[in-house]
Amino acid sequence: MNYDRLRQEVVETARQMLNQGLVRGTWGNVSARLPDRPGMLITPSGMDYLTMTPDDIVLVEGDSVIGRWKPSIELLLHKAIYEKRPDVGAIVHTHSVFATVFAAAERPIPAITEEMAQVIGGSVEPAPYAPCGSSALAELAAKYLNRKQAVLLAKHGLVGVGRDLKEALLSCIIVEKTAQIAAVANMLGGCTEFTPDEIRELRENYLYKYGQDKE
Ligand SMILES: [Zn+2]
Repeated sequence: MNYDRLRQEVVETARQMLNQGLVRGTWGNVSARLPDRPGMLITPSGMDYLTMTPDDIVLVEGDSVIGRWKPSIELLLHKAIYEKRPDVGAIVHTHSVFATVFAAAERPIPAITEEMAQVIGGSVEPAPYAPCGSSALAELAAKYLNRKQAVLLAKHGLVGVGRDLKEALLSCIIVEKTAQIAAVANMLGGCTEFTPDEIRELRENYLYKYGQDKE
């Protein structure tokens, strides 16, 4: 199985990440879990998103790496998250500016918008610094992601996850927007976060009741 459609979706998600201003140049990376066996499709290392094609996407199954290019430098990070979180179907890693401001300051992005509570499941915590591409970074990111849908990498950037590629990209967009709001709100004197109960209710409504009624 060549996963043609999923390869195409990975390419499209990477382009959207660029078009939405979440990355510049060839930074960042995107992966999707294989639907029928352990493994993932992941963007290649250092390739221009605008010229990338589905054939450039790298297939990784266990220790075997199948493709014409080297996989993203953050392969271990993607692996660690898929291992720890069976509910995660896709991962998007960006260096968007305001999220990275919080990552550089090593401060959480607070749950101050409904979208953060609904889609992310609370504040986004900063994982302590470890060099990019290292197994230490992979472990820390998976640990600080915990049960949420995004995690900050200190002095580096943001990782958003979701049930599919669309939702993983949405996580990154919402976190970046909330980081912008939090930074400006702090200049105005700060803002209060949702309580854990409020977050739980918003999250459950989003996961289980959101969308069109079928009747
Ligand atoms: Zn990075």
